[in-house]
Amino acid sequence: MSASTRIPPIAQPFVSERAKKTLDLVEEFVEKDCIPADAVFSAELGEGEKRWQTTPVVMEQLKEKAKKLGLWNMFLPKNHFTQGAGFTNLEYGLMAELLGKSKIASEATNNAAPDTGNMEVLAKYGNDAQKQQWLAPLLEGKIRSAFLMTEPDVASSDATNIELNIRREGNEYVLNGSKWWSSGAGDPRCQIYLVMGKTDPNNSDTYKQQSVVLVPAGTRGITVQRMLHVYGYDDAPHGHGHIVFNNVRVPLSAMILGEGRGFEIIQGRLGPGRIHHAMRTIGAAEKALEWMIARVNDEKKQTFGKPLSAHGVILEWIAKSRIEVDAARLIVLNAAIKIDQGNAKSALKEIAQAKVLVPQTVLTIIDRAVQAYGAAGVCQDTPLAYLWAGIRTLRIADGPDEVHLQQLGREENRARKDAVIAKLKWQREESERLLSAAGFKPKSHL
Ligand SMILES: Cc1cc2nc3c(=O)[nH]c(=O)nc-3n(C[C@H](O)[C@H](O)[C@H](O)COP(=O)(O)OP(=O)(O)OC[C@H]3O[C@@H](n4cnc5c(N)ncnc54)[C@H](O)[C@@H]3O)c2cc1C
Repeated sequence: MSASTRIPPIAQPFVSERAKKTLDLVEEFVEKDCIPADAVFSAELGEGEKRWQTTPVVMEQLKEKAKKLGLWNMFLPKNHFTQGAGFTNLEYGLMAELLGKSKIASEATNNAAPDTGNMEVLAKYGNDAQKQQWLAPLLEGKIRSAFLMTEPDVASSDATNIELNIRREGNEYVLNGSKWWSSGAGDPRCQIYLVMGKTDPNNSDTYKQQSVVLVPAGTRGITVQRMLHVYGYDDAPHGHGHIVFNNVRVPLSAMILGEGRGFEIIQGRLGPGRIHHAMRTIGAAEKALEWMIARVNDEKKQTFGKPLSAHGVILEWIAKSRIEVDAARLIVLNAAIKIDQGNAKSALKEIAQAKVLVPQTVLTIIDRAVQAYGAAGVCQDTPLAYLWAGIRTLRIADGPDEVHLQQLGREENRARKDAVIAKLKWQREESERLLSAAGFKPKSHL
């Protein structure tokens, strides 16, 4: 069954024939070109310091092939941007799921974070000169980028805490402060940082203090102090940098959108990006399930005289995983449809639902697959340990679960409480009236 024939019925009416054809091409490219090349990519990266200086040849070869197949920049939705491949968020969502099955497929098709979010920022908020200098080479996959918001010295899930100082001096901005978890900053092709800091720390409106400026990597005064590991994985060459800014100077033309517009920019950036992660995570779940099915049917590795698939509990793991991944997919596709029908702002609730539910659900599925492999599941011989580590970070990155849950809970409570209380009161009184009329004594004490 090809990918286009597996589109859930609820999403089918929203998917064009062109998108269906592309979806099948993406599947073939991922399964036949990218997944087998994942190991080549890792081997070409090598060991030690070399991992931060190498651009694996296989990646450039895959990029060439993807371009020829028309599998390029599918993430930029057609109703908001003209620069992409002309698909909707929903159509890209179905494709992103497939890309999520390989370590390298997203970059090979120029749909990789953080470039995707950064390209959206430049396309949406950048001026012509900024677009020409930075968006054009990013769209061509010639350079890479990083988004620098999180800081080591403040709780960054509340972005009003950000401290990096951006001071205006003559015809320049001067930046001082520290950033960490700057994903992508390790790549030798990373040429541009989008840096969020404070231009007006004393503004009484705490949402107008921040700005985002474009800072070329390697500008004097920037030190990449170290690269951070995720559960021991270095994620090279992309990596996650801890970066210090010491009197870093950029021209006034480096400002995106205008001083004090930083919050607007990060909110615009993070909406669709969260959905992209969730979509790829669904693909990771499908991959874990495939690996689980392969192990439990391995005739060579039987326990107590039977393959694992003959033990009832294992079939229950497979069944539960199938149910959970199919349900999680629907919540992601629903959010994508909602964005397509309006914009990311009108789909805040649906995006947050997917952002929270998908990683939690998929971690459980991967964990079952790990368990099915026994000790092999926690080592480098299957993709499961790496998948688990990467997806675990999604419960923190782009805002921790608790922050999204707090916002979702607050909004659900605010929007519904008056109507719910009034309805339940009316129903109770009506019940009491009906009971009395029928000669019964009301019993509820509420
Ligand atoms: C792999 C990875 C990649 C990343 N890439 C980037 C990147 O490219 N650019 C970038 O700028 N950042 C990046 N980040 C950083 C990420 O966005 C932040 O870690 C995240 O926003 C949380 O901020 P913090 O780490 O400062 O945690 P803190 O703000 O210190 O929060 C700590 C914990 O407090 C709890 N908490 C917070 N608020 C509440 C609340 N309201 N109620 C209850 N509990 C709460 C949560 O459990 C949270 O995990 C990345 C992180 C990871 C792990």
